[in-house]
Amino acid sequence: MRQVTEPVTGLTTVKQQIGMACSGGGRDERSVKLIAASKTVSADRLVPFLESGHFVYGENRVQEAQGKWPALKARYPGIELHLLGPLQSNKAADAVTLFNVIQSLDRPSLAQALGRAFDKAKRRIPLFVQVNIGREPQKAGVAPDETDRFISECRSVYGFDIAGLMCIPPEREPPAAYFSELAKMAEGNGLPGLSIGMSSDFTVAIEHGATHVRVGSAIFGTRARPTQTAA
Ligand SMILES: *Cc1c(COP(=O)(O)O)cnc(C)c1O
Repeated sequence: MRQVTEPVTGLTTVKQQIGMACSGGGRDERSVKLIAASKTVSADRLVPFLESGHFVYGENRVQEAQGKWPALKARYPGIELHLLGPLQSNKAADAVTLFNVIQSLDRPSLAQALGRAFDKAKRRIPLFVQVNIGREPQKAGVAPDETDRFISECRSVYGFDIAGLMCIPPEREPPAAYFSELAKMAEGNGLPGLSIGMSSDFTVAIEHGATHVRVGSAIFGTRARPTQTAA
């Protein structure tokens, strides 16, 4: 166990920046939820952040989350855990048990698996549909052209509570146009949630209506290991 308390200055700074972006855009600060993206951050290192009163976290891999969150959840009631990374259908049941929100619903076969997992768990959790907004072949997400149809199928076939849309815009490109395209799609489908914005662009995301920002390295520092995305 680490003895030294990890400083939470990154978290404090990000919260201040969110506050400034909100007041600059005439938005209520409470309309933006900060999800601390804690992949690769150990349970020990998370304790000071929890002690500071921050309870909303996001993870990328079911297995990693299963290793660190059950004990923390027992110790800190009120934790809200979001799954941000791609989900394999055979881990849907585990994900529904552990997470409060799944942000990476990206294909019909996963919708089917989640429908079954909800029935089995007798528990339904909010879902975000992930959109491949940059139409990148290597990236997860529903194709923009198929998103409207996918959303209505999720609602009519499975009765899902679709909370909003999530995207990861292409790297090394200005994200603004992608954010506004996603915002339009959300509005067109009557979806209130917009999960956009990471460490490099969360203030831009807030200008474009983000209701959820997912911030990792600006809070926890640069990740030592490369990002693992497979759940
Ligand atoms: C890692 C990750 C984040 C946070 O990324 P940072 O650049 O470290 O802020 C946000 N969303 C998803 C889906 C991620 O995998």
